[in-house]
Amino acid sequence: MSNNKTKTIQHDLKQDDLIVIAGAGGFIGGSLVRYFHDLGYTRIRAVDKKPLSNWYQRIPGVESLRLDLSESESCIRAVENAVEVYNLAADMGGMGFIERFRIECMRSSLINTHMLEAAYQAGVNRYFFASSACVYNTDLQQDPNVRALKESDAYPAMSERGYGWEKLFAEMLCQEYWAERHMKTFTARFHNVYGANGTWDGGREKAPAAICRKVIQAKDAGINEIMIWGDGTQTRSFTYIDDCVVGIDRIVHCDELIATPINLGSSELISVDGLVSLAEEIGNVKLNRKYDLTAPRGVAGRNSDNTFIKQVFGWEPSTPFKDGLTKTYHWIEQQYVARKAGERVVEDTF
Ligand code: NAD
Repeated sequence: MSNNKTKTIQHDLKQDDLIVIAGAGGFIGGSLVRYFHDLGYTRIRAVDKKPLSNWYQRIPGVESLRLDLSESESCIRAVENAVEVYNLAADMGGMGFIERFRIECMRSSLINTHMLEAAYQAGVNRYFFASSACVYNTDLQQDPNVRALKESDAYPAMSERGYGWEKLFAEMLCQEYWAERHMKTFTARFHNVYGANGTWDGGREKAPAAICRKVIQAKDAGINEIMIWGDGTQTRSFTYIDDCVVGIDRIVHCDELIATPINLGSSELISVDGLVSLAEEIGNVKLNRKYDLTAPRGVAGRNSDNTFIKQVFGWEPSTPFKDGLTKTYHWIEQQYVARKAGERVVEDTF
């Protein structure tokens, strides 16, 4: 939703103030670097632990550093002279990853813990943390016809094991840096972000990319079949990357949201079977569906209640899923074809 009541973004940043983006070799971090670069900000420092050749996006003119931000010295180096810091670095992936590697997920608490302290010591103006809908109480997500989750539903807490608890702890730490030390911190709870320039194979990919890839593979191999994780009735809402980066910008530049976690997600609910049908439609193919009931499937249903974000901005993520998925599908298809032709493409693996 965007209308004439939509608030404009009020940046208090100068064009040459230093913006630091952690996790910039990944999907959302890389897209955020591009977004600020395209807005005309001239000093951006992009940081990730991956080798630079494995980053999804490298943008000329952006300082790109390879640092492991689970170490305090790296965080101190990363935020030197920063005015704003965006922390999107985490060891994460789709359900297949977060159900299997809970320790890795929880160890991301080291990243946010050291980044917050380094940012505080460096005197940054604004600090952003990327949280997740996985913080929400899982007892509220047992039905595919789920009631959309509002911000207060995180407590009493019963987050997703591993990944969700790490995010909840990190949110709380951000809140305390404001309460005790007056550093402005901002937290968005993302709901399944998807789009081009993200993981699409290798084990960390999420449902939209995985389904697109499977449809593309089936077509290419002439196999008229697709394997779906779970029974296909699970529901989710999916947020297009362009909405996500604009939403981050809005949230960080809104003082009403200091230390106040807010949903950043689409409220268009769709089942996994519905997602497969859309991908088939885009790929112009019809496949026989097989269901793997032993595969990770996550909660039965999850949607974003956008009452709060609409109240604050007169705006919410609104790219229709079909539009976003069409762009994503075509990007993955391009990558698939390039890889098959022996060209080098960026891939994340376990
Ligand atoms: P991503 O895996 O594409 O990017 C994360 C990046 O962090 C990776 O490039 C990785 O190398 C980097 N990283 C990991 N450990 C690091 C370390 N110790 N030091 C430096 N860099 C490190 O994931 P994404 O989808 O871009 O997610 C970005 C953020 O948003 C994460 O915090 C994630 O938990 C959160 N989030 C994402 C989604 C989603 O649907 N994509 C949903 C909810 C929350």
